[in-house]
Amino acid sequence: MTFETLLRAYVLGEARLIPGLKNAAIDALIEKIADEWTIFTTHISTVYDGTPEGSPLRKSATEMMLQTCEVVQIKGRILNDLPREYLYDLLLAYSKRDTPGTISKHNWQNIDRCQFHEHTAPTPPTRALAKM
Ligand SMILES: [Zn+2]
Repeated sequence: MTFETLLRAYVLGEARLIPGLKNAAIDALIEKIADEWTIFTTHISTVYDGTPEGSPLRKSATEMMLQTCEVVQIKGRILNDLPREYLYDLLLAYSKRDTPGTISKHNWQNIDRCQFHEHTAPTPPTRALAKM
């Protein structure tokens, strides 16, 4: 699947409130980035047009950029066609980083995906059945 298809799948999951679809799209995106070792800067507008502030997809797009790209590489293409909100998110995430520099393809592939997932809180076991 293309980056565009995966991003649109996520946006559909966002619009229809389907966390499972969003999580699957994130997993596939992380895999695709690792496989091709490239990122989807040309589709950042799809991300920002289709998701609300604080969306895990926005977070993953920010981390993807910061962790797999040298800042020097970003500089040349960043100012022209990326949404301002994305640049702001990048700046904010960059200022909060513990470890500067990029990670290897292998480490990206094994990144904790749950930081970009939407998990519903576990439901407490029902007591009604226990009393029967
Ligand atoms: Zn998870």
